[in-house]
Amino acid sequence: MANIPLMAWLVAGICFILSLGGLSQHETARRGNVLGIIGISLAIIAALFQIESIDAAVAVLLIMAIGIGALIGSVLAKRVEMTAMPQLVAILHSFVGLAAVLVGLSVYLWPIGHIVIDGDGGTIVHHEMIQKIEIVLGVFIGGLTFTGSIIAWGKLDGKVDSKPLLLPGRHFLNLVMLLSCAGISIWFIQIESVWLGLVPLLLVMVISFIFGIHMVMAIGGADMPVVVSMLNSYSGWAAAATGFMLPNDLLIVTGALVGSSGAILSYIMCHAMNRSFISVIAGGFGTGTGSAASKGDAQELSYTSIDAAGAADVLAEASEVIVIPGYGMAVAQAQHPILEITELLKKRGCRTRFAIHPVAGRLPGHMNVLLAEARVPYDIVLEMDEINEDFPETDVVLVIGANDIVNPGALDDPASPIYGMPVLEAWKARQVIVLKRSMGTGYSGVDNPLFYEENTDMLFGDAKKSVDDILHSLRG
Ligand code: NDP
Repeated sequence: MANIPLMAWLVAGICFILSLGGLSQHETARRGNVLGIIGISLAIIAALFQIESIDAAVAVLLIMAIGIGALIGSVLAKRVEMTAMPQLVAILHSFVGLAAVLVGLSVYLWPIGHIVIDGDGGTIVHHEMIQKIEIVLGVFIGGLTFTGSIIAWGKLDGKVDSKPLLLPGRHFLNLVMLLSCAGISIWFIQIESVWLGLVPLLLVMVISFIFGIHMVMAIGGADMPVVVSMLNSYSGWAAAATGFMLPNDLLIVTGALVGSSGAILSYIMCHAMNRSFISVIAGGFGTGTGSAASKGDAQELSYTSIDAAGAADVLAEASEVIVIPGYGMAVAQAQHPILEITELLKKRGCRTRFAIHPVAGRLPGHMNVLLAEARVPYDIVLEMDEINEDFPETDVVLVIGANDIVNPGALDDPASPIYGMPVLEAWKARQVIVLKRSMGTGYSGVDNPLFYEENTDMLFGDAKKSVDDILHSLRG
């Protein structure tokens, strides 16, 4: 009987691993989600069964807390717009960080037994030093995840300026904060009085809060995708630290899964943006607003515009079309009518495919989720590396609410803040039609020379309305 919770945790751990595997492919993502839900439900039930003696008042409080949390979570998740999903993810990471800090403080004030494996196969003994190391690590990682995620939420939501904050001597400041935390932690481990020990622990907490704020404030421009996945990874490590403190094996396993998958995702995002992880963490990227030349010229450069009927005529004559969706498509929710356009073109013998940039939108996989929601067939959705060479043989490229991911300056303007990031080379197609509301810039705040190319036409207006109008004309 005593082993049932352990078995349940094992099954839950396997569910989480299978869930991650499922989430890596569009076709199996739904199954991955269901497995994750089963795993977490099993884990909660097993954790409740593990409590040996609990008085009724605490049990009621526990059930109320779970109920209120579940209610708030489901209402928030149901209400949130798809465009606000990245902010929701960022703020959820901050909760994990805060939980790690609070667990750290409470485990310190009300210590619990710690498992130490001895030569005879394992006995439960309270090992104070190990527990103190876990506590101070948990508080540190949790603290920086908490405040870092709040700043990431603010940057994604437009409440905090997305430009990097570059304080003089910021690397030195970071180093001082790190070293002081290490020194204070050693002091904390050596203190015997609980109340005196609270002083260094709270100091580590405050410094980690400042460190989290400073670290994410220094990251700007187009580097935010890496920050989001990096904080995802940190939230996993914070959960793993909580697992060590409690001690709870499943939390350790789950935290390690989230931590390592987040780290792998950060690596993939860095690779996609041609950036080194260290340079992203060091911050400062995205300080400029494009080269002076390109900005200055932009005012004098002219662009051509087209209306929906004109765009429909161009599409009607094409036999190869590539659609590039970006953040604006998510804002406008234009994915449904665009699917109808692709079906209509297919019936007329035109091959239409979607090109997905790894950092399109505001969340890793943002565009894939939207297209899957609109039931766009997976076989016509291609990643940047799979389709980038096909642009020269393409008749029309339809850029829907995308900007930074199709900016040629990323390849040929060393002064551009997004220089070095691989982009979708739309300008190589015979004709490009850009659907957006104005000549305004994208997330990184840099002007886009693509809009002034001879083979580019701007179709101004809300992307959903423009796509609806094109569809109407095509049917017409
Ligand atoms: P961008 O932010 O570069 O551009 C989006 C464009 O959409 C804007 O220029 C805007 O122009 C247009 N737009 C907004 N609303 C509408 C609407 N209703 N109808 C039509 N157009 C609209 O998006 P991209 O997807 O091209 O690039 C993503 C950027 O976000 C990159 O810089 C990336 O680094 C960053 N980022 C990505 C994250 C990720 O994980 N994917 C996370 C955080 C940041 P206008 O106002 O003129 O309409």
